[in-house]
Amino acid sequence: MVNETYRTCQTCGTVNLNRDYCQECGELINLILKRKLLREKKESDKLILEKTKKKNGITMFFERAKEHENLFIRYTALFFYSIWVIVLAIGSFLAFLFGYIAA
Ligand SMILES: [Zn+2]
Repeated sequence: MVNETYRTCQTCGTVNLNRDYCQECGELINLILKRKLLREKKESDKLILEKTKKKNGITMFFERAKEHENLFIRYTALFFYSIWVIVLAIGSFLAFLFGYIAA
């Protein structure tokens, strides 16, 4: 039995035999493959998003402000950022301390 799959290109209308990509315009015409690639892209997009999300909103805000074109804003952001980092450090120290006491 010969496996023959005809796929019509949605872009240029060329009928392709046993091809995943259109022989005329190179468009991806295998819908199953297309869906699979799309899903994989979504997965990797989600992964990148989660990586950036790991930094919380305040940290992101300061990191953006630190690159601000206005020198004054940059220094102000840097000043508050240092405070924020100290707050985070104290916070994690307290969390460690409470965890230690609880255990
Ligand atoms: Zn085509």
